[in-house]
Amino acid sequence: MSDLVFILGDQLTPGISSLKGADPSVSRVLMAEVMEEASYVRHHKKKIAFIFSAMRHFAAEMRAAGWQVDYVTLDDPDNSGSFTGELMRAVARHQPERLRVTRPSEWRVDQAVGKWEQLSGLPVIVSEDDRFVCTAEEFGSWARGRKQLRMENFYREMRRKTGLLMENGEPVGGQWNFDADNRNAASRDLFIPRPLRIEPDAVTRDVLSLVQKRFADNFGDLEPFWFAVTRDDAERARSHFIEQALPRFGDYQDAMLADEKFLYHSLLSYYLNVGLLDPLETCRMVEAAYQSGHAPLNAAEGFIRQIIGWREYVRGIYWLKMPGYMDENVFGATRPLPDFYWTGNTDMACLRAAITQTREEAYAHHIQRLMVTGNFALLAGVDPKQVHEWYLAVYADAFEWVELPNTLGMSQYADGGQLGSKPYAASGNYISKMSDYCKSCSFDVKQKTGEGACPFNSLYWNFLVRNEPKLKSNPRLAQTYRTWERMDADRKQEYLASAKAFLSSL
Ligand SMILES: Cc1cc2nc3c(=O)[nH]c(=O)nc-3n(C[C@H](O)[C@H](O)[C@H](O)COP(=O)(O)OP(=O)(O)OC[C@H]3O[C@@H](n4cnc5c(N)ncnc54)[C@H](O)[C@@H]3O)c2cc1C
Ligand code: SF4
Repeated sequence: MSDLVFILGDQLTPGISSLKGADPSVSRVLMAEVMEEASYVRHHKKKIAFIFSAMRHFAAEMRAAGWQVDYVTLDDPDNSGSFTGELMRAVARHQPERLRVTRPSEWRVDQAVGKWEQLSGLPVIVSEDDRFVCTAEEFGSWARGRKQLRMENFYREMRRKTGLLMENGEPVGGQWNFDADNRNAASRDLFIPRPLRIEPDAVTRDVLSLVQKRFADNFGDLEPFWFAVTRDDAERARSHFIEQALPRFGDYQDAMLADEKFLYHSLLSYYLNVGLLDPLETCRMVEAAYQSGHAPLNAAEGFIRQIIGWREYVRGIYWLKMPGYMDENVFGATRPLPDFYWTGNTDMACLRAAITQTREEAYAHHIQRLMVTGNFALLAGVDPKQVHEWYLAVYADAFEWVELPNTLGMSQYADGGQLGSKPYAASGNYISKMSDYCKSCSFDVKQKTGEGACPFNSLYWNFLVRNEPKLKSNPRLAQTYRTWERMDADRKQEYLASAKAFLSSL
């Protein structure tokens, strides 16, 4: 039977489920660069270039494997601008008997696919995305009846399911989680490996020109562009990470350094999220690095937890909670996102560093996202939807299924604690402990209030006081609220006045 198989931009996996059962001799693969997807938020230029170039290379890989691929570029004059529009045009061109697609990773696109049968008059086979360890249904069963959906419990299930770092049914090393070993601050004299940089080829160069022309006003630097855009190069980047950075990945996972954008992080999220790398295979390689003695257990466990724990968990939460999840705003936060999130133009050195590198690289590591840009937005009471749209736009790895629960749930606590047991709110002391940013800041992290004091210090207490009705009963915050209660009235007033003055200057 002749199928038209629609492969989306984050489904760049040769064994993607939609292809299973399709006959390459009579079927066609459809791929399309569409404006609707490239512009539903104002994506970073590098993100658009990465996805389009990876799509074009994937189309070539599929052709070489014997598939007939119909590829619609963004500048095709007949491009309708939407997935549904392109599907309908391709149906008219190829007259298939049936449509196939792997279930989209995002709610918005899944809703559109739901209408294809009616619009095309053809049967549509929507196959599940089998590149995850846990299906949405399995996650739903795990979640059912539980009062709290804690990642740690879910992660243990995934360890048992995959057998990763397991021995006779028990976790290797006698412990599930070595996070307590993974909180060292880094110093400038460490040897820090450089990520693998791939030179753009002719296909990528074409895409870079297209992006420069069509998305000139979008956020972010387009060049230098050094992402891998083929499976082979993504695999090289993965081997490079395992060889060079994995051994110290655990130790310095939470550290930040002003002149080191990447530290020992893998920079693999964008390759995993578009399908150039397989998550489980990556975890097995990391496990093998531990077994061979190349990497310590805290590094291997820490990495594997991020993938089969956090990554799978946030996907489960997304499908469990959408579509309502997007509108959660438990604190009723309404402040507009400060302009400096788009420029990096602020005197706060930590924010300046995280935002500047985001503009340059379309990348910031987890602690920068959570404890610098996310923490500030939380403390300042920024509207969580605006925060979400910023994260979705500015990172090359940002797809709603993974970005939204991380932003709205983990970072902004806008879901009232469905994902985290307490808000990730911290004063300047945390940033000072985990980074060297404060040394070059015009604010003084040790000064608590008044002119020149680190704004995070007063914003922290202001946040807790402002949201006391929602947070005071949280047992994990009991000690903090007791500290506030014991503070003398003048001190309290100084904190609140400092925060007020700072917020009104934003
Ligand atoms: C506010 C906020 C927004 C985020 N948005 C995204 C996003 O849009 N896309 C995205 O992939 N990650 C997101 N994350 C999670 C995490 O920050 C990134 O996965 C990580 O920084 C990517 O860099 P890396 O590949 O060097 O990761 P590493 O530190 O090397 O970690 C290894 C891998 O683990 C996975 N991982 C780690 N933490 C998480 C997590 N919390 N959730 C899901 N996967 C995780 C990633 O696939 C990552 O490649 C967000 C985190 C926060 C706090
Ligand atoms: S002093 Fe405050 S604002 Fe400045 S870098 Fe440190 S934490 Fe950030």
